[in-house]
Amino acid sequence: MKIIMLGAPGAGKGTQAKKLATKYGIPHISTGDIFRANIKNGTELGAKAKVYMDQGLLVPDELVVCLVVDRFKKSDCEKGYVLDGFPRTIPQAKELDEALAKNGDAVEYAIDVDVTDAEIISRMSGRRACVGCGATYHVKSVPPKKEGICDVCGANLILRDDDKPETVEKRLKVYHDQTQPLIEYYQAKGILKSIDGSIGLENIFKEIVKIVEA
Ligand code: AMP
Repeated sequence: MKIIMLGAPGAGKGTQAKKLATKYGIPHISTGDIFRANIKNGTELGAKAKVYMDQGLLVPDELVVCLVVDRFKKSDCEKGYVLDGFPRTIPQAKELDEALAKNGDAVEYAIDVDVTDAEIISRMSGRRACVGCGATYHVKSVPPKKEGICDVCGANLILRDDDKPETVEKRLKVYHDQTQPLIEYYQAKGILKSIDGSIGLENIFKEIVKIVEA
């Protein structure tokens, strides 16, 4: 089962990707998480990526594609995977298709979680991330038990630089300019499925399950 999750930053695709990965026993591959882990571990890749991430810009394609293609080589990807945050540009999508085609493979579903910009801005300004383990919360919809403290590891919760309102607006512009064209790209391939992202977490998940089990 090879699934791509599409949608604007903050549309909820990460949450759905994690739920899918758990339900079907396949890895959840988030390029954003990979970059954040690299930043935390002080790697060269992390330092390069951070410059772009902090400004709400996309990390250059050449720093992203090899990373993902390498990740596919791990044995846990044999049954498939859920890609979250990749591809984010047409060149990334084409490179992904080419890399998969070498093994006679292809993406099976591109699932777009559709949410308005106004809703995205309101959601992201309330998002909080743990500085310790990276767990994410929302001040209204998924609050931690104790304000400002992670339920999982007890470390502090912060508003990530890339979730700050001015950065979110820039990320939305980047999304519309560079990532939204993927919707047409996958539509043309006949594998695009669009879901209304305002129907609630559980309903969105049910819709996705219906699609992949049809
Ligand atoms: P995310 O957690 O998926 O929202 O990603 C956070 C940030 O990481 C993005 O705003 C980009 O700067 C960077 N990033 C993640 N995935 C990609 C990708 N496929 N291509 C380029 N930049 C990416």
